[in-house]
Amino acid sequence: MKGLTILALVFGPLVMAADSVIPQGQPLTVVVGDHAGMGGPTVRKAARLAQRILRDAGVSTEWTTCASTELEGVSFYPCQFSSGQPDLVLRILPKAAPGLPVPRVSMGVAVPGEPGEFGAHAYVYYDRVRRAAEFCKCDELRILGHALAHEIGHLLGLEHSTSGIMCADWSMSTLVHMSRGHVLFSPDEARRMQANVGARVLQRASR
Ligand SMILES: [Zn+2]
Repeated sequence: MKGLTILALVFGPLVMAADSVIPQGQPLTVVVGDHAGMGGPTVRKAARLAQRILRDAGVSTEWTTCASTELEGVSFYPCQFSSGQPDLVLRILPKAAPGLPVPRVSMGVAVPGEPGEFGAHAYVYYDRVRRAAEFCKCDELRILGHALAHEIGHLLGLEHSTSGIMCADWSMSTLVHMSRGHVLFSPDEARRMQANVGARVLQRASR
């Protein structure tokens, strides 16, 4: 990721209030940068969907979305932040950028944390989201929302599963279920993410 550079065109951020409880009652702060030109309304709706999917798994999040249409320069973050560094940064790229992994089927990639650190950065490749939406004739914002939640699942310690939202290769039937809002994290995945969030909160408090 170090080779990827961003010149951000910053628009007014939107903060969505979290409304569920996680360990210690502190929501994870998530920033989503739209580098693919999807547009604020689409990204905000997708972010709300991802927020709801995570909330259903007992993970409370507070989201900020912003637009950034250029991929050059040296700035790491796509947005200016009003307060502190976010816990998680997701960037929607037009397609996989040089230097980033290009999984065979996945719609994005989550970057593991350094030893002793939690992962904080993930990327979603819009060309794959769009292709999947065209394939299943689904609303692309719903596919995007699930892709964002999937990558956050990785950042919160989950691996791929054989079915559900953490499956690496979403089938037609999974995509259709996603479009209807029926694909969530499993109870075990929810517990593991909650534990990861709890450990993050403890680490945050100890600093
Ligand atoms: Zn994955």
